[in-house]
Amino acid sequence: MKSQGDRHLENALHFDNTYTRELPADPESTNERRQVSKSCYSRVRPVKAGGPELIAYSKEMAEEIGLSSALCESEEFVQVFSGNKVLSGMDPHATCYGGHQFGTWAGQLGDGRVINLGEVVNDEGRRWVLQLKGAGPTPYSRMGDGFAVLRSSIREFLCSEAMYHLGIPTTRALSLVTTGDQVIRDMFYDGHPQPEPGAIVCRTAPSFTRFGNFEILTWRGELDLLRRFADYTIRTDFPHLGEPSKEVYCAWFDEVCKKTAEMIVHWRRTGFVHGVMNTDNMSVLGLTIDYGPYGWIEDYDPGWTPNTTDAQGRRYRFGNQAEIGRWNLVQLANAIHPLINEVKPLEDSIETYSNHFRDTWQRMMADKLGLAGFNKESDNELITDMLDLLQHVETDMTIFFRRLAALEVQSNAGHASSAVHLIEHFSDAYYVSEQLNDEYKDRLDTWIGQYRSRLNQDKTPDNLRREKMNRVNPKYIFRNYIAQLAIDKAEQGDNSMVNELLEVLRKPYDEQPGKDELAKRRPEWARHRAGCAMLS
Ligand code: AMP
Ligand code: MG
Repeated sequence: MKSQGDRHLENALHFDNTYTRELPADPESTNERRQVSKSCYSRVRPVKAGGPELIAYSKEMAEEIGLSSALCESEEFVQVFSGNKVLSGMDPHATCYGGHQFGTWAGQLGDGRVINLGEVVNDEGRRWVLQLKGAGPTPYSRMGDGFAVLRSSIREFLCSEAMYHLGIPTTRALSLVTTGDQVIRDMFYDGHPQPEPGAIVCRTAPSFTRFGNFEILTWRGELDLLRRFADYTIRTDFPHLGEPSKEVYCAWFDEVCKKTAEMIVHWRRTGFVHGVMNTDNMSVLGLTIDYGPYGWIEDYDPGWTPNTTDAQGRRYRFGNQAEIGRWNLVQLANAIHPLINEVKPLEDSIETYSNHFRDTWQRMMADKLGLAGFNKESDNELITDMLDLLQHVETDMTIFFRRLAALEVQSNAGHASSAVHLIEHFSDAYYVSEQLNDEYKDRLDTWIGQYRSRLNQDKTPDNLRREKMNRVNPKYIFRNYIAQLAIDKAEQGDNSMVNELLEVLRKPYDEQPGKDELAKRRPEWARHRAGCAMLS
């Protein structure tokens, strides 16, 4: 056990590297791009950063792995989490995985700009893999340079921690540093590459294992290694399932299906759009992983995706995420079929996914509306009508639900409030006031009437309902334009907004005096600005 007063990271962090100890390594150890067969990872060294500086760290994550704030603010911390200093106990490596990208098998992908430093075990026995994103090339870097720029690193760092505080399963982020080096990027892929500040996020998770780690082994016909990797995963990440066997492989897949469903229901609850749900970006632990061109729904539009690369087919649009989760699970099922040699149990789990998604989604929607439970007789219609209403005029989903919580139902039960008052009540949520015509006013009035009478069945007092609703409907999400404002400042050397957001997003469900600006709907200037509306 480590004492509180440790003044060096080496003493504070207890490494136990199961991945590199128990799985086969690539015999080569250069960074040369190559196909890596018969192995699960390649050892690599991070590139040294020219002049690293700390921008921010997550105090919750630091505490979780036993790091004091003094240690996080030390020079050693910057050196270690910029890749300049490798601690004894670390075993830096990049893992090998494949994946289906946009519905097509892409072959080997792997950690092309991620270097895993090792696994730390905290005082409670919880395991955290520490990895640097943007610390230089690996055998899996393909056409890329292995580095990351400040804007995408800010987005990943803040969003990981925001998701955590929202109660959404996610990989975490410990630290964000700038490297002091420039990275060349063609932001719009239009032939205008520019130098941008380089940065590194230290990401953490119990494991970063993806569907693609299994797919690559089956695709290569490395079935012994597939079994070995599955056994390792079950023993390390799913120990409650018991010793691996055919039944345990089935139970494991069933659990992956359920966890995936639950994660996507959380995305629907908060308006999160992942943007690139390729199978290499799907965690077997059901964690949201790989924050790239993600975004948050502002006006409620199930067809929206922030990813410009996907603008044509909109495969990964908000309203299609559950369907894609299922498609991805089918790919995982295909990959692990050789372990089970039977289709039926895998099909049953895929079926379970759909049912579990539906049930969890219904309960979640009931919670969002402040209902005591989901009533199969009445609530499907209530919810469908509401979702139609939200799309009838551009309505901010997040603000709408907070305003719905604030609605007085009991005191007004006798006298229907007028449509004019309702429009006023929800006014903060509307993007285009010209859209608020009589037809819309009637529909809003009608739906609120339905909602009131449904609430009257439950007889939950307004204040209790409000409290319950405000615990599942966040006030603060990491809005796309707000991310961009923080990035603009940081690129000018001012990190204050990054740290302000980190603080505000710790309590996304609370009213925070003085911070209302950060909860406002997207301003008009941001409607079409790159980074605020669309990303690549
Ligand atoms: P992503 O779209 O971020 O999930 O990445 C897909 C694949 O491309 C993964 O194998 C990444 O490691 C790789 N990749 C993305 N960006 C870079 C980069 N700048 N350098 C090297 N590899 C990259
Ligand atoms: Mg990825």
